[in-house]
Amino acid sequence: MKELALLLKKFFGFDSFRPLQVEIIRRIIQKKDSLVLMPTGGGKSICFQLPAIYMPGTAIVVSPLIALMKDQVEGLLANGIPAATLNSLTSEAEKQRIKQHVIQGKIKLLYISPEGLAGESDWLLPRMEISLIAIDEAHCISQWGHDFRPEYTQLSVLKKRFPDVPVVALTATADKITRSDIVEQLKLHDPQIFISSFDRPNLSLTVYRGFAKKEKIAAIVRFIRMHKKESGIIYCMKRADTEDVAETLNNYQVKTTAYHAGLSPAKREEAQNDFINDRTEVICATVAFGMGIDKSNVRWVIHYNMPGSIENYYQEIGRAGRDGLNSDTLLFYSLGDLVLLRRFAEESGQNEVNLEKLNRMQRYCETDVCRRRILLNYFGEEAGHDCGNCDVCKNPPLRFDGSVLVQKALSAIVRTQEKAGIQMLIDILRASGRSELIRLGYHQLKTYGAGRDIPYKVWKEYIYQMLQLGYIEIDYANAQTLKVTSLGRNVLYGETKALLTAWNEPENRPAKKEKKTAQAHPARVIASDSEDEKLMDSLRQLRIQVARQEGVPAYIIFSDAALQDMVFQKPLDMEAFAGIRGVGDIKLKKYGETFITLIQSVVKNARENKKAL
Ligand code: ADP
Ligand code: ZN
Repeated sequence: MKELALLLKKFFGFDSFRPLQVEIIRRIIQKKDSLVLMPTGGGKSICFQLPAIYMPGTAIVVSPLIALMKDQVEGLLANGIPAATLNSLTSEAEKQRIKQHVIQGKIKLLYISPEGLAGESDWLLPRMEISLIAIDEAHCISQWGHDFRPEYTQLSVLKKRFPDVPVVALTATADKITRSDIVEQLKLHDPQIFISSFDRPNLSLTVYRGFAKKEKIAAIVRFIRMHKKESGIIYCMKRADTEDVAETLNNYQVKTTAYHAGLSPAKREEAQNDFINDRTEVICATVAFGMGIDKSNVRWVIHYNMPGSIENYYQEIGRAGRDGLNSDTLLFYSLGDLVLLRRFAEESGQNEVNLEKLNRMQRYCETDVCRRRILLNYFGEEAGHDCGNCDVCKNPPLRFDGSVLVQKALSAIVRTQEKAGIQMLIDILRASGRSELIRLGYHQLKTYGAGRDIPYKVWKEYIYQMLQLGYIEIDYANAQTLKVTSLGRNVLYGETKALLTAWNEPENRPAKKEKKTAQAHPARVIASDSEDEKLMDSLRQLRIQVARQEGVPAYIIFSDAALQDMVFQKPLDMEAFAGIRGVGDIKLKKYGETFITLIQSVVKNARENKKAL
């Protein structure tokens, strides 16, 4: 146990294990099988990398994506752990060299694609000493999962051929069916199943609803200004939107690249590399982007449109904050998106399942209880308390008796014979003079102008609430017109009161700084425009320089978490530097002096500046 902790510090620079890591590692060392379910960023890699270092022989790691393999191998090499990957891009000569090294026992971890593994089952595998087999993204084996890869089914022979080698299957997404399917298909022997909490308390959760396009862009620009120089992803539903939003942001001097499946492979590769190597701060992408991106310093994720299910949403926001530092997520929810997604769901092969998933997503967006509770609940976990790090917790809804408002809206709906959609309804209430409205004679209704004192977007918010409270329904099959329900009639006739939540301008909601000190996830923050922020900037620049020299992404040199720790600790000698999170033996030797020199000079300058004052 102590030995494992020493190895963790020596090779990875971490002081302690995360929950379940030790238990999983012990199980592997005892040569027993396991299935590991951990959220993205939970720390799955250490679970097989550490036993691979500890045990004699070479670990085989099966992974579906070349980018993932490359990234992990670079990370391991940077920490002085001999690792290699065999994939379709490896040259023949390189392959021969790697295989020789594997046979000679010089490699501790060999990353390989499932096809590659099948191809080597008669030649390389019998000649090497296999310490353990790790199957990453194990849900790819199941037809029930969303990323089914037929190649993964070939892995079922492994256990038969190497019955004594421990197998660990790891995944971030697996419902109950997929879970048993993985165990069954891999023929795992009496596996222990480790399920870690899916909670990611470092991700803040915020939903804005009913924003028009212009307001969305303004909100995004504000958001990015609070995240200067930080990496982030904006997910859009449509390809055209990725390009459109990227162009707009570039006009605001935010370096943004678009990414979608319609681009040529070369373009996509370039966009991805620019993002990974911090040459572009923001990537504006469809959901085609992200699988296989291991970038640990993504600081925020924005959903320009609502995702179709909570699984997708959680996976996408999960790409932020893998290093455990506080990260922000923001979702824009609109009925327009909902209408489109409903249509997709209805046209899909499994419309019942997909509509139900969409309903759950919608409820998440509309909730006025702690959002994290809803997420955890969805994944079958009980949350004992409110999280303190979502918009609902930070802004508990203020309720007021909105019966009169609701009655005005309901009465207008009834008077249009339930033929109006949301926009028309608001136009009637606010006495718009647009020609369509006049043509339909709605300006003669008694309720015309009955709500002109309330701004358009506030009305929109109240109508969303009326939907959520079940007073009205949208007739999706009929041009999204609004219908009054029997609950609504009760309010209309004054039989029940309608409690609404007061509208609160998002701009007036607590800003980033307040967010970062949320009680549930206390963390030190680097104040903006402080000496510390300057030091952080300098460290980032140094990291980029070093990364360019070595031809690896910046986060392979040091994670954001490591840089932040340097800012807080200000290590001025090698001993202090060794205590920094993420600094193991190799990185201490390789980068210690360079980084200490920078920190010393910044600290010295700051002192002199103070004296001069
Ligand atoms: P996953 O594969 O589950 O998505 P990773 O293995 O990539 O997650 O780990 C996510 C991040 O957490 C990485 O930056 C990793 O270095 C860090 N990490 C993992 N284990 C620990 C630990 N015990 N202490 C500190 N950081 C850790
Ligand atoms: Zn909350």
